[in-house]
Amino acid sequence: SPAPKESNVDVLIIGAGPAGLMAACWMAHCGVSARIVDKRNTKIFCGQADGLQCRSLEIFDSLGFADRTWKEANHMIEICMWNPGADGVIRRSDRIPDTIVGLSRFQQIVLHQGRIERFFLDNIKKYSKDSIKVERGVLPESLEIDTSKVEDDAAYPVTVKLRTLTEEEATPAQQQTGSKGSDGLFRSNLTNEDDEDDLIRKSKARAGESEIVHAKYVIGCDGARSWTRRSLGLELDGEATDFIWGVMDIIPVTDFPDIRMRCAIHSASNGSLMVIPRENRLVRLYIQLKEVTPDASGRADKSKITPDLIFSAAQKILAPYKIDYEYCDWWTAYQIGQRIGNSFDAERRVFLAGDAVHTHSPKAGQGMNVSMQDAYNLGWKVGLVAKGVCKREILSSYQSERRRVAQDLIEFDQKFSRLFSGRPAKDVMDAEGVSMEEFKDAFLKGNMFASGLSVNYGPSSIVVKPGDAAEQGDGSEKTKKLVKTHDLSLEEFNKKQALASGLPVGMRVNSFKVLNQACARPWHFQERLKADGRFRVVLFAGNILSPTQKARVEKFCALLDAPENFLRRATPEGKPIDSIVEVLTIHSAKRTETELLRDFPEVLHPFDEKLGWDYNKVFVDDESYHEGYGDAYKNYGVDSERGCVVAVRPDQYVGWVGELEDFGGLQEYFEGCLVLK
Ligand code: FAD
Repeated sequence: SPAPKESNVDVLIIGAGPAGLMAACWMAHCGVSARIVDKRNTKIFCGQADGLQCRSLEIFDSLGFADRTWKEANHMIEICMWNPGADGVIRRSDRIPDTIVGLSRFQQIVLHQGRIERFFLDNIKKYSKDSIKVERGVLPESLEIDTSKVEDDAAYPVTVKLRTLTEEEATPAQQQTGSKGSDGLFRSNLTNEDDEDDLIRKSKARAGESEIVHAKYVIGCDGARSWTRRSLGLELDGEATDFIWGVMDIIPVTDFPDIRMRCAIHSASNGSLMVIPRENRLVRLYIQLKEVTPDASGRADKSKITPDLIFSAAQKILAPYKIDYEYCDWWTAYQIGQRIGNSFDAERRVFLAGDAVHTHSPKAGQGMNVSMQDAYNLGWKVGLVAKGVCKREILSSYQSERRRVAQDLIEFDQKFSRLFSGRPAKDVMDAEGVSMEEFKDAFLKGNMFASGLSVNYGPSSIVVKPGDAAEQGDGSEKTKKLVKTHDLSLEEFNKKQALASGLPVGMRVNSFKVLNQACARPWHFQERLKADGRFRVVLFAGNILSPTQKARVEKFCALLDAPENFLRRATPEGKPIDSIVEVLTIHSAKRTETELLRDFPEVLHPFDEKLGWDYNKVFVDDESYHEGYGDAYKNYGVDSERGCVVAVRPDQYVGWVGELEDFGGLQEYFEGCLVLK
């Protein structure tokens, strides 16, 4: 047979679920040559993940499709808790807001994974000018890393052999026939048959087409049974529990009063149920299956699980209320287990993201969110290193930052699932049961964690704060060895951080409204931090009308503009000055008393021969005509007279804070992560 065709690509992504699509999105936005393959012949059309947390929506906004999601989704406003009363009958015992008030400009919403994947695909098509397309029915059969070349920036050290499947091979079989809706058991962790080795064997027998790809970087986003992870010899550590849950997406016919609220229902003795109201009249029920228990091997017998079995469990939990359905959109079952990858990359050349490195129960709506957020953390790093914009060194921060988040997630999920699957306490003396105070408390705390907004990355070359990278990261030897930190005492750091107390170094930039200086339009400041692969310097210019402050700003800008400093040295020959690092300004003087061209140095609103001045870089903290006052200086904790300077990473996390005089510190930050001429 003819030799397989060979090609080079900067980034190869394996798996086109939420994590893989997020990674591909970054490649499209950063203009990196990339391919993405998936063994399945279609995307998901129904079922699976549905909850979208605040941080994911902020991320979607940075990519340009939060509006589509926001419009189409069902908005979750309140959580109702139902518990047995003294008579054993369930009753509503509490209500809390679903999203902590004031946390983000978005709140938690639900829309099924298939729609999210659609938005991603449209966005990738648009930004890559149709050059990055999911290649479906394609799976890898071997992966090798040439370790002698891993530190060579120009090399393609990863070789992956890809095989194209036939249509039939790429179509998953439904496990149960004759049920009212499509089932997702083929992707459930109760099933083992979805086996790559088997597919490769069958496909070989039919001489499927194969191809050899040489990649600079590979990102494995191929789900919980990740082939990429296994082929690297990496493992998931952790265990399965005995809790088995069913999931059904139905249009309910019921007299239960809170069916359009998110509900956590604990019955006295029939187990627990969670209600998630969804788009298009659908409601998702998560139902504890007390009748199904794992066997000696620790696995439950999936053949016993049918929609009827799951639904009758729901009916028992909800009694005396009645519930029935005519239409079921999707159903599945899963066994709760918490596992985490022992390593998130090999040689900083092959990375793992999403379910490939952490699995847990889906009830807190974390799976899809954390998976996408992994790839949001990783994508720009890989993309910018592949393009030669960033140093390879920054890649080590992926494991220290995201494995830590996964560890926190697993810990959170262990607590949350135990409280959810446990029997409610009969009274205060019942120590084995779960008390409702304990449950409510966990929910309130859980909401902060679940929003994705409490993530605080530890020190690294791109997060300037004191302390031990491993200790504040994932604690691994690898992090200890590879993650470089800045030399900074706690005292020095606290002084810097106090300049912008509302912008903690390591956390995402929160959003408050500011006005465009040139046109008075209000913007949520985060909307200006687009995911286009650029770092940002945010200059809080303070009271620009005071002569002393103006002199400080001018001095800072002169250094910014100097040819020997990072801004000009990062910019490729002949490209605009904001190509790699964009400078944004927020000042605190009165809008109507200031003039863009008169009061602000040119580097803050650069001039282009063909396009004129840039009117979209200078903002003011002032009152708007129609949308109130964002009070940005107060909310960011910045002195409105003196201001400060903040360096922001391409994924909106704060990397560095300092005084206008501390140009040296800013220069050092960028020297640490950018490739400068
Ligand atoms: P996946 O979405 O699993 O995507 C992996 C992709 O890789 C798939 O498209 C797969 O076809 C492809 N692939 C796998 N192996 C290969 C290979 N060898 N070669 C090429 N391609 C490959 N989360 C929630 O938040 N709420 C829920 O209600 C919820 N319910 C769930 C129900 C089930 C049955 C499952 C399995 C998961 C559920 N999740 C839920 C979790 C959520 O769907 C995942 O956390 C999320 O999809 C993870 O995204 P991912 O991209 O990492 O992996």
